[in-house]
Amino acid sequence: MSDKLADMRFIRFLLYEVNKIEELLQYPYHEDHSRETFDMAIDAAYDLAREVFWPAFQEMDREGAVFDGSHVAAPKAMHEIWRQCKEGGWFAPNVCYDFGGQQFPLSILAVTSFLFSAGNSSAAMYVNGAWGAAHLIESFGNEDLKARYLQPLYGGEWGGTMALTEPDAGTSLGDITTTAVKAPDGDHYLIRGTKRFISSGDHDLAENIIHPVLVRLEGAPPGVKGISLVVVPKRRVNADGTLGEFNNVVTAGIEHKMGLRGQATATLMFGEQGECHGWLIGEPNKGLSYMFQLMNHARVFTGIQAVAGASAAYHCAVQYARERLQGREITNKDPLSPQIPIISHADVRRMLLQQKAFIEGALGMILFCAKVADRMQNTTDEEEKKTCNLLLETLTPCCKAHVSDEAFKSITAALQCFGGAGFCEEFPVAQLLRDNKVFSIYEGANGIQAMDLLGRKVPMEAGAAVRALMTEIGKNIAEASALEALKPLADKVQEVQNAVIDVTMHLGAIGMSGEVNLYICNATAYLAMFSQLVMGWQHLVQATAAQQALDAGADDADFYKAKLETARFYINTTMPHTLATAQVLKAVERTALDYPPDWF
Ligand SMILES: Cc1cc2nc3c(=O)[nH]c(=O)nc-3n(C[C@H](O)[C@H](O)[C@H](O)COP(=O)(O)OP(=O)(O)OC[C@H]3O[C@@H](n4cnc5c(N)ncnc54)[C@H](O)[C@@H]3O)c2cc1C
Repeated sequence: MSDKLADMRFIRFLLYEVNKIEELLQYPYHEDHSRETFDMAIDAAYDLAREVFWPAFQEMDREGAVFDGSHVAAPKAMHEIWRQCKEGGWFAPNVCYDFGGQQFPLSILAVTSFLFSAGNSSAAMYVNGAWGAAHLIESFGNEDLKARYLQPLYGGEWGGTMALTEPDAGTSLGDITTTAVKAPDGDHYLIRGTKRFISSGDHDLAENIIHPVLVRLEGAPPGVKGISLVVVPKRRVNADGTLGEFNNVVTAGIEHKMGLRGQATATLMFGEQGECHGWLIGEPNKGLSYMFQLMNHARVFTGIQAVAGASAAYHCAVQYARERLQGREITNKDPLSPQIPIISHADVRRMLLQQKAFIEGALGMILFCAKVADRMQNTTDEEEKKTCNLLLETLTPCCKAHVSDEAFKSITAALQCFGGAGFCEEFPVAQLLRDNKVFSIYEGANGIQAMDLLGRKVPMEAGAAVRALMTEIGKNIAEASALEALKPLADKVQEVQNAVIDVTMHLGAIGMSGEVNLYICNATAYLAMFSQLVMGWQHLVQATAAQQALDAGADDADFYKAKLETARFYINTTMPHTLATAQVLKAVERTALDYPPDWF
């Protein structure tokens, strides 16, 4: 097992040299911070990831979460991880001091989440679940709910979930049937229904678990317009914050999954065996829009989990490729000469570069989004807020879907570097691959993300979101073009940007003509093309910072040269695929649309 999970030098490069996150110190919310406190946080998170999360990675998979027919026990090692995260304030590093947080930027939260997920995604999800539930209550709940729930959730006293999915309503959330009926004698609702696949849904890590649950109120309109959000504790909470009686949230079972086995993914029955009380968050029938605001965070977090797994796998592969001796130089015909490390073979370096380029581009995209989210949260300039929102809306499906699709391929390449050993569970890459698969499925399956990009984000405000992104990309192309060494790369990104704009307009005309099914049927190919442009753009931005550092005579020349070559590799070998996809999309490819189901 490699003890390197991430390239901290590269993370610092992204934070300080590319994204310049010290600019965030101008905002009152972050004024107590400095580069030193940021560094302390990410270094401490990395130590915890390597020394506590990672050593439990395989053990938690082997032991799994265990359901005894009524209760769920989390894997033993998870108790120590939970304790250390609680002690270290890792449940909510970004929230305000009043709730026990440290007011770090989201950019730092993104990095710490990345590091914990690289160490052990199952474990990171238990911690993150509490943050998600609290964030919903903080954003939309009334003062009473905030007073009862926020401190214990943000402080790691209690766990949290997001309960949307039902056995017959996964993607199609408009079909949920869990009900909430106003109780005749109080401010609460009586909840009945079953939720499936609930991450961290039941465990013994904390004495209470708080479930934000999507429900239908009596008389609510059908479909997505009739969905409300309630908070349902496993144990009721008294007005003074002490725990009351069991709230009849009963665990029916946990899933036996191909990956993330340390995670208790539970089926929960609400109110089947006695009264289950829930309290409305915000206004009736607005539940889905509230949940979607959290889901934007959750989707970017899914991208973070995916690239984190790829990062851990990549570092394992690099170590193995340096140590494994096999074969000789292709020109060496002496069978008695010693064998050489496989990293000496160009094809192995190709596989490693493919992973490195993916990780650097994907982390670039995610930390760009994190900085934009920080600006949106802090700025008082309404115009800037609006632009930030448009950029995030467009890039969220790319962070979720493209990063998770490509992370799986990246880990496949890592596994390939191990040869037969990769296929065995002795090394962690096989588990990293198994764990990673679900990231393309949950938080909205990737096909749905693609439809979200093309169906909602592209036409949004008459194309304003795509225009905001293209303007941003255009600025960076111009900056890179001014550097002679980068002009050829900038030209290639420009060519791809032109192709993406061209295809977008072409598809737009189809959409405007009313052929909605034809417009949307190649959404997945569109998302891949669009995201490859975004990744190429991020590599160009990084290459620009690297070139500027080299021109200024930076000490760390090898780091910057490696960065330049990695960008060149992505832009020259991966990004050109967009041009082939553009051809397909412009040819109005419709085979899948017209193919009758009976022919399968
Ligand atoms: C490990 C794990 C953890 C999870 N954690 C949670 C959690 O914490 N909370 C929670 O609420 N849920 C959770 N889920 C559920 C997850 O979000 C759903 O599995 C996911 O939304 C897909 O729903 P489904 O499984 O019912 O698949 P389906 O909706 O049946 O979809 C199956 C396939 O059909 C495609 N499809 C469906 N409808 C359409 C359409 N209209 N157009 C085009 N294609 C379509 C989908 O893209 C998908 O590929 C989790 C799932 C897993 C496996």
